[in-house]
Amino acid sequence: MNRLLGKTLEELQTIALEVGLPRFAGKQLAEWIYIRRATSFDDMTNISLKGREALKARYTIGRHAPIAEAISKDGTKKYLFRISNNERSERSNSNSSLTSKSEEVYIESVYLPEEDRATLCVSTQAGCKMGCKFCMTGTLGFHGHLTAADILNQIFSIPDSNKLTNIVYMGEGEPMDNLEHVLRSLQAMTASWGCAWSPKRVTVSSVGYMPGLKRFLEESECHLAISLHNPFGAERQEVMPIEKRYHLTEVIDLLKQYDWTHQRRISFEYICWYNQNDTIRHAKELLRLLKGLPCRINLIRFHAGVDATFPGSNERQMEWLRDYLTAGGITTTIRRSRGEDILAACGMLVNSLKEKE
Ligand code: SF4
Repeated sequence: MNRLLGKTLEELQTIALEVGLPRFAGKQLAEWIYIRRATSFDDMTNISLKGREALKARYTIGRHAPIAEAISKDGTKKYLFRISNNERSERSNSNSSLTSKSEEVYIESVYLPEEDRATLCVSTQAGCKMGCKFCMTGTLGFHGHLTAADILNQIFSIPDSNKLTNIVYMGEGEPMDNLEHVLRSLQAMTASWGCAWSPKRVTVSSVGYMPGLKRFLEESECHLAISLHNPFGAERQEVMPIEKRYHLTEVIDLLKQYDWTHQRRISFEYICWYNQNDTIRHAKELLRLLKGLPCRINLIRFHAGVDATFPGSNERQMEWLRDYLTAGGITTTIRRSRGEDILAACGMLVNSLKEKE
């Protein structure tokens, strides 16, 4: 059955007319779904009983609770969601069918509470095609695109949903490779008829998948985070196969065509490997490459749990790199690692909670 979650106001108005309700009921539906977060049609008391019955016969709201969770000693929480192909028409309309033979796949989301904010890291695909060597998710292979409803459900259905202040699209998958549904979900989060969040509260990540990236830059005002990891193309392609198709230099040239001084912010994610990408040679090239682009760099500790040929940089080297880049004019921070003990840190999402189900 088709889900209402993820639908635009215009689509909800069309649905209202289809089931014999007045057009303005579409606005009421949007309010029930995105603002009041209704989980049942029976909650929608300002819609006629007959209208609710007609909706029930053809649609679901599309909310599914996570089926397992793990809590880290640092407070990070990881959730497992089951994604099924029951909503087949919705997927086939959008070329988003799951590729798994079981017609059912699993994805994870990570809740990161801090003193003054609470962030959810959402997945946009089940597994991933990009095959980054340092990322455990990449080892899962690709099992399908998530729909806007699958993405929004992660945000709406975790127990701490109403505490969320920020969303990052940095879980399983490359968001720009599923842009249609990513944009739909962003629209529902930021539109006045939806959750009305400021786009400043949402960051979407990318390895630099150019076709999607261009459209994202045109159609969204949300922040962007690029996974950079090495400023030299020949070295970058050793760990990030995407570099063979879309060069980092093309990505940076594209980014330089946009205005980053007002609302939208760009940051670069940089996992540090000892003697591989944390040297003076790399630091100088980073400054050269990013010159003229108002941005920040987040240095990330490499996690021991991820299988890779090279060990992560030590603390001293990361601090040196941070200070060198900052002195060179790019604000650089070292990102605190969260949830390593439950495999919830960056690049560690491999649906390990499935065993707990
Ligand atoms: Fe995919 Fe991102 Fe992992 Fe690369 S880092 S394999 S794009 S999930």
